[in-house]
Amino acid sequence: MFILSENPPAIPVALQQRSPSSTLLVVYPPIGHSTTAAQIFLIGSAPAAGEVLVNGKRIRRSTTGNFSPSFPLAVGENKFVVEYSGQSKTIVVVRTLAQPELPIDGFAKDSLYPNVPIARLPGELICLSAIAPPNSTVTARLGQQSLPLVPDASTTILADNLSVLTGKLDAQAVTGKYQACTQLSSQNTTSSQNTTLGAPIYELKLPDRPTIRETAKGTIDVLDPARLTTVEVTASPGVARTGSDTEFARLTPLPKGVRDRVTGKDGIWQRLSYGGWIKETETQIVSRSGVPVESLVSGVTSRLLSDWTELRIPLQIPVPITVNQTDRTVHLTLHHTISQAGIQRLVNNPTISHVTWQQITPTQMQYTLHLKTNQAWGYKTRYEGNLLVLSLKNPPTLTNNISANNLKGSNLKGIKIVLDPGHGSSEDLGSVGNGGIPEKDVTIVVSKLLRDRLTKRGATVIMTREGDDDIGPNERAQLIAKVEPTIALSIHYNALPDAGDAEKTQGVSAFWYHPQSQSLAQFLHDYVTQKLDRKSDSVFWNNLALTRPTVAPSVLIELGYMINPEEYTWITNPVQQNRLADTLADGIEAWLRSR
Ligand SMILES: [Zn+2]
Repeated sequence: MFILSENPPAIPVALQQRSPSSTLLVVYPPIGHSTTAAQIFLIGSAPAAGEVLVNGKRIRRSTTGNFSPSFPLAVGENKFVVEYSGQSKTIVVVRTLAQPELPIDGFAKDSLYPNVPIARLPGELICLSAIAPPNSTVTARLGQQSLPLVPDASTTILADNLSVLTGKLDAQAVTGKYQACTQLSSQNTTSSQNTTLGAPIYELKLPDRPTIRETAKGTIDVLDPARLTTVEVTASPGVARTGSDTEFARLTPLPKGVRDRVTGKDGIWQRLSYGGWIKETETQIVSRSGVPVESLVSGVTSRLLSDWTELRIPLQIPVPITVNQTDRTVHLTLHHTISQAGIQRLVNNPTISHVTWQQITPTQMQYTLHLKTNQAWGYKTRYEGNLLVLSLKNPPTLTNNISANNLKGSNLKGIKIVLDPGHGSSEDLGSVGNGGIPEKDVTIVVSKLLRDRLTKRGATVIMTREGDDDIGPNERAQLIAKVEPTIALSIHYNALPDAGDAEKTQGVSAFWYHPQSQSLAQFLHDYVTQKLDRKSDSVFWNNLALTRPTVAPSVLIELGYMINPEEYTWITNPVQQNRLADTLADGIEAWLRSR
């Protein structure tokens, strides 16, 4: 399954019952499929002998009879009649416009800002906006202020993440948006408390039409900077983001216990004073005193455990943190923190060479942990009351330092590996290949073959699923966090969004997120493509549930395209699956020995 999309295309569940091999099979698009793409691929198969026609024209097929041709789509209904040897299937695909059509005589639905209650500090800009027909005169009333809104032709939305796969990266122009900005002040109130400006009321005038008045769904509050509430993170960990929506990038997760003041709100999202946004449900209010969260730091100690080396930093209050890895360092930034440059005690350990620090801004101090090895093996953070603990995983020790050309007889004793066969259950098939076999059935077969090989070499292998279980990506990631393996590998097969070229797209790709995982992703990608002569679909950086764990190098690998006519045949061939498992086991061991 291509995993860049939050909303993968629907896959017909009925496909699980395989059709007899003499029949024409069309596995995609499903019945009632609607898309904004300008083209669509038809994925399916029929016996190799004979011809498959689409709308009367013969299509290209693999030697095994698979087909994945793409066809342009007109806006509206598109009909495809697929024929093979007297059998016929009709598929209707509806193409809709990417941008909803502009309203003719009023505001576009839900287009009045804000849609949810928001709060900001005095002095911040608030930009009111609405989508209205061309030639409208739009004004908005906010508190005592009346603002004329101007049409904004320059606004663009960025192409979505899926475009990285199809190469169509052009941003789209948005039309019909009217906006005006105003700087918030709390001067109107004499008492020291939050000011409520209420919901903006928008007015729309079109020539020869009655004036339309509509109130935005959300209200606007101006916070009193001297009386901000302080919240504590109750989730373990709290998910911090760069903005008030899950579309925004993740920041370093906030360990349970972190405290900070709330400087803004967007519906259920709160902006914390250090800059990150977090959901209300992941925090609780601990104070309304308005006293800032600030800490001094002086002495630092450390502790060596069997698997981890800990840096222990006593603080006055659990401040928000940011962790940033580079090749041979880990930077730990403490927000709202001022250093008093006390003494540091670093125990003898196999992981951290030395620790340096810097006051990077008047309110942010940063520790830099310099590693002894080229490879970082994992990290985690926690608060024990006011004590911040940053743990770095100690490197694994491999027995039998044998030569690279005799890997098979070697020993992976002491190495713990989490294998994650992607997808599972009738709810989550992953992508479905030309012949009707779903991705989840291939990932479990290959994962078990790989597990057996790794176990034979002495490794301890923990699988996220053994059967056809329905496990969400976050549950799988939590297992990795709990097991704290040497490495974690998630096994997937790929597909494309509708605009892609399924007939021509093949290859292996690997995904990493934290720098400690980059080398493993690149190595396995190179190893599989070279040893098995598979095409490369490149190595990606991406923040995915299964690349996000920090306790170990964690990689997600896509071992080919389920929907490519030729690659599907290779993917589902049992002999090739065994070769692939051999190669992955060799690759994992070779990488471990190279680090
Ligand atoms: Zn997948």
